[in-house]
Amino acid sequence: GFKCGIVGLPNVGKSTLFNALTKTANAQAANYPFCTIEPNVGDVAVPEPRLFKIAKIAGSASIIPARMNFVDIAGLVKGASKGEGMGNQFLANIRETDAIIYVLRCFEDEDITHVEGRIDPMADYETIETELMLADLESLEKRKPGLEKKLKQRDKDAEQTMRLIETAIAVLEQGQPARTVEIDDDDRKAWRMLQLLTTKPVLYVANVDEDSAATGNAYSDKVVAHAEAEGSQAVIISAQIESEMAVLEDEEQAEYLDAIGLEEPGLNRLIRAGYNLLGLQTYFTAGPKEARAWTFRDGWTAPRCAGVIHGDFEKGFIRAETTAYDDYIAHGGEQGAKEAGKVRQEGKEYIVKDGDVMLFKFNV
Ligand code: GDP
Repeated sequence: GFKCGIVGLPNVGKSTLFNALTKTANAQAANYPFCTIEPNVGDVAVPEPRLFKIAKIAGSASIIPARMNFVDIAGLVKGASKGEGMGNQFLANIRETDAIIYVLRCFEDEDITHVEGRIDPMADYETIETELMLADLESLEKRKPGLEKKLKQRDKDAEQTMRLIETAIAVLEQGQPARTVEIDDDDRKAWRMLQLLTTKPVLYVANVDEDSAATGNAYSDKVVAHAEAEGSQAVIISAQIESEMAVLEDEEQAEYLDAIGLEEPGLNRLIRAGYNLLGLQTYFTAGPKEARAWTFRDGWTAPRCAGVIHGDFEKGFIRAETTAYDDYIAHGGEQGAKEAGKVRQEGKEYIVKDGDVMLFKFNV
């Protein structure tokens, strides 16, 4: 599955947020005998209002949302890149994620110590990012000696790799994450092979106090401004409120949301932001038995998307009866869409679009 790592300094609200996300906080922890070292992985349903509308029209007995993983990555302190604290474990855990969520403390609470003794979300961010940049620098330097021999033989791949290594080092040494480097299409693959931590897509969570959940505060303003300048997303959330809300029944939850001036739980915004950050899209299947959301990546063809359901669907792919979500809704489902000529027969080359409702025809 696709994984977002939740990263931040101690006592900023990571676990609170993670536990709210999974709602099964304590059970989860008990399942991991080495829970202080092993990262906690939470499997989370992606909130998708379109799926409920489709299910209602199709009269589906069950609704199965798409899922994604969140990993609570504890153990970051200053010096992690030098192996301080659980630094090495921490970096290894980040390496395995597809994207990074920075949780930044934007709440004051005298009873909850801040490791650096002050509330300053952007300084926290810099502390973390610096450790990641240092780790990247170190891994880049380590790669160089291995390339020397091939460079002497004028090996084109080695030359390309070395050029990219030098580019990355130059940027990192200026204190910029490697994701700020513009990469040509020709270099993309070799660049990915460098497996840098600071090329992973990021989003920011400003964890605000309960009173600022709907509005944000002066701290979260700074986070939002930084994210905007960088072209990233920031999500304002109160982990405390989310954890209280996570255990409520739907109706109570609606009342609670209303009382604090929110339209939906902040977690829904966060999960969707994570989903987008990973470049994920959704197609649907719908019938009387179940309505289900499936995850694919931008640019995938119909057979590849069919393969998400089952390998045989991809191998034996014939065609896909495809209805755009808006058409499906506008014409009251598959039958109506068919009568309106809105159900397309798509073949092997078709690039699936977000929201497509699909029925795959295949040979077994
Ligand atoms: P972690 O070390 O980053 O995982 O932080 P925790 O999630 O364990 O939170 C540290 C402490 O801060 C706990 O006592 C939480 O209850 C508290 N906390 C987390 N989020 C909030 C918040 O939004 N407001 C307040 N007042 N306290 C919070």
